[in-house]
Amino acid sequence: MSIPGTTKVGVSIVAYTDRKWGSGVLLDTEDVSIYFRLIYYDTLSMLRNSLLWASTNPFLAERLPKARFVRRATKRFMPGEEFRDVIKEAERLRTKGIASTTTLLGENNNSLKEADAVLGHYLTDLRVIDELGLDMEVSVKPTQLGLDFGVEEARSRLLELAEATDSIVWLDMEASEYVDRTLDIFMSVKEQRHNVGLCVQSYLKRTPDDVARIASYDCSIRIVKGAYNEPESVAFSNKKDVDQAFEDLTATLLRGRAQGGVGRVVLGTHDPSMIGAAKRIASDLGLKEDQYEFAMLFGIQRREQLRLASDGHKVRVLISYGSAWFPWYMRRLAERPANLWFVAKQLLP
Ligand SMILES: Cc1cc2nc3c(=O)[nH]c(=O)nc-3n(C[C@H](O)[C@H](O)[C@H](O)COP(=O)(O)OP(=O)(O)OC[C@H]3O[C@@H](n4cnc5c(N)ncnc54)[C@H](O)[C@@H]3O)c2cc1C
Repeated sequence: MSIPGTTKVGVSIVAYTDRKWGSGVLLDTEDVSIYFRLIYYDTLSMLRNSLLWASTNPFLAERLPKARFVRRATKRFMPGEEFRDVIKEAERLRTKGIASTTTLLGENNNSLKEADAVLGHYLTDLRVIDELGLDMEVSVKPTQLGLDFGVEEARSRLLELAEATDSIVWLDMEASEYVDRTLDIFMSVKEQRHNVGLCVQSYLKRTPDDVARIASYDCSIRIVKGAYNEPESVAFSNKKDVDQAFEDLTATLLRGRAQGGVGRVVLGTHDPSMIGAAKRIASDLGLKEDQYEFAMLFGIQRREQLRLASDGHKVRVLISYGSAWFPWYMRRLAERPANLWFVAKQLLP
């Protein structure tokens, strides 16, 4: 290509790369140079790590939530800070054939008094859910129930919650340092009450062994990819490996479900390829659409939620509430840094 009267033209192609970065020349003629630059993924990784770092920073946690534009941006992922805001959305979802789960935001409480307040909140929620006849479950973080003060503290509060309802009380999975204690609490309560479920994270290398250990308990298990900043020694850092692990766990648990050894299998993901893989695996195993479930977060992939429900799948949306939303919100931004655009838009008049 020759452009009379101009100097040489250069084109730079920016491409996704998994872990590596670099640049080079693809083509270099007299008139045109085509360069490649492998940078994008690393920029995203840096952004993701910064957001995860921000999620644990007390200075930011104290100041950012006070900014009006940040508060407005959270509306996309949570309807409000009060449980009545959750109920309103759950009623709306119910008309579309979608069930719900709720969680009171917060983690790592500072005293057992706080853990008792959390327990009180959930007990009230369970009473209201029962009165309204809603198909809504609760999902609780072990550190909200007092895990930092001892396994027994969290265990006894989880048991009290499970005793207050017949529906499943889900135990969230937090950072890797809590996994052993979370499993201990879960298995101990499961011996007394059938209605507890556990979340497992596919990014953790240990999860297949953990699942092998608990699956024989006729457990209800929710598989997610994992939302915390974990070192490579314990977690896969490459999305391809995390996705493959998610698919493998899905296959293991759906096989268990088909054989009757696993209770409920819930796939907590918004990822179309994970959803597609789960459907394929389930269909190969002869499982019907209502023999496994999909769960998504409020405000994410709304169209996919509706599509799955109208195809006969069981779908549950997790609706969060409460004032301690900052770390949780930072993790949602880290999952998809493009969401920062929604925050930026709130700065516009
Ligand atoms: C019901 C439920 C319960 C969960 N419980 C836990 C838990 O107990 N412990 C834990 O560590 N993690 C939990 N998570 C979070 C989970 O670990 C992931 O961080 C989160 O679900 C994103 O992973 P993904 O499977 O959607 O796939 P990703 O690979 O992160 O995303 C796939 C696609 O989904 C969409 N998407 C994903 N996240 C977002 C977002 N925030 N905003 C907009 N679009 C998005 C995008 O289109 C993206 O391309 C839970 C998630 C769900 C849905």
